[in-house]
Amino acid sequence: MMRVGVIGGGQLAWMMATAARSLDLKLIVQTPNADDPAVCIADEVILAAIDDAQATAALSERCDVITFENEFVDLDGLRSIAGVPFFPQLNVLEPLLDKYDQRQFFQKIGSPVPRFAAIELTDPTALSQFGFPVVLKARRHGYDGQGTFILRSPDDAPNLPQPLLEEFVPFERELAVMVARSQQGEIVTYPVVETQQHDQVCRRVLVTNDLSIEVRQKVESIARQFVTSLQAVGIFGIELFLTSDNRVLVNEVAPRTHNSGHFSIEACETSQFEQQLRAVCNLPLGSTAMKCPGAVMVNLLGYESSHSDYADVRDRLAQLPQTFVHWYGKTELRPGRKLGHVTVLLESGDRAEAIDRAEAIEAIWYP
Ligand code: ADP
Repeated sequence: MMRVGVIGGGQLAWMMATAARSLDLKLIVQTPNADDPAVCIADEVILAAIDDAQATAALSERCDVITFENEFVDLDGLRSIAGVPFFPQLNVLEPLLDKYDQRQFFQKIGSPVPRFAAIELTDPTALSQFGFPVVLKARRHGYDGQGTFILRSPDDAPNLPQPLLEEFVPFERELAVMVARSQQGEIVTYPVVETQQHDQVCRRVLVTNDLSIEVRQKVESIARQFVTSLQAVGIFGIELFLTSDNRVLVNEVAPRTHNSGHFSIEACETSQFEQQLRAVCNLPLGSTAMKCPGAVMVNLLGYESSHSDYADVRDRLAQLPQTFVHWYGKTELRPGRKLGHVTVLLESGDRAEAIDRAEAIEAIWYP
């Protein structure tokens, strides 16, 4: 039985359990807290910080391959670990852990990105170079919009050391795509989806037939070129902006499974979690075909500080037709935190229907 080490024990690792069982793999998880979501599904757990490379060295003694559900690692520390392969490879992670490095990397391989610059906040001309509004980002460790600030004027700038500045893109839509590449060089992409954010946090993912073939092809070709240029092995989530003149710009890439791919659990032949395990364990990749004409995924975000498990509300959601509720079992609930998600399988690829179904879920979830 192959043993897969997973750095990170949040909901993404938790959702690997079903696939690990069906592929007959063992999961050994490195995560800081005993109450993290994946602790209860792991075959073994190493309780340690994500960036504790010594703990990862211990993890490497117990497994055949190491993969990631969280990329906030100590890359230099991991480089001294020999004997067990990392997928994605450490040189693949190298340009991806810092948002400025990512922008430079995509620019180098010819993918369109927003205008950007690494700046010092002490330099007012640097801050104003793209006009206003403008976007300021922490270069590392940002997630769920934390570390991303939209500035209306220079006075709005938070105190970030050496941030990334980028032009504000007045996008028409935000898009995302999951792409996987195997050790044999086989590449698959999932359907291109629309993501909708609220306060910079993803609220909904729509899988519909609403996007033109031209836009889908642009997104798929960016995704394929990205994994090919790095010979990357694993699964990646790429977020993009679609502008009103049909340009597609890369926002960012995550070197792991992603919120925008959760619909694949019920809606696709192969879930993103199974696909990650297939890629990193040198198994043939699975089909990414949809099993239904459309789908919508709604994140259940915390809207209050609480210890409730919202069992009644989850029951009501689960009674909606073709609806699947995933609850991550987090013990500390606070505003903006991802607590679970709901996927609805649709009988059509109609965008308006997807939005209606999302609104019905939100009406039940948000008081
Ligand atoms: P995180 O890594 O925390 O998810 P992102 O860089 O993806 O942060 O930004 C979160 C959200 O902020 C995006 O989904 C988008 O809605 C908005 N955003 C980020 N960058 C820009 C930009 N350059 N122009 C317009 N909106 C942006």
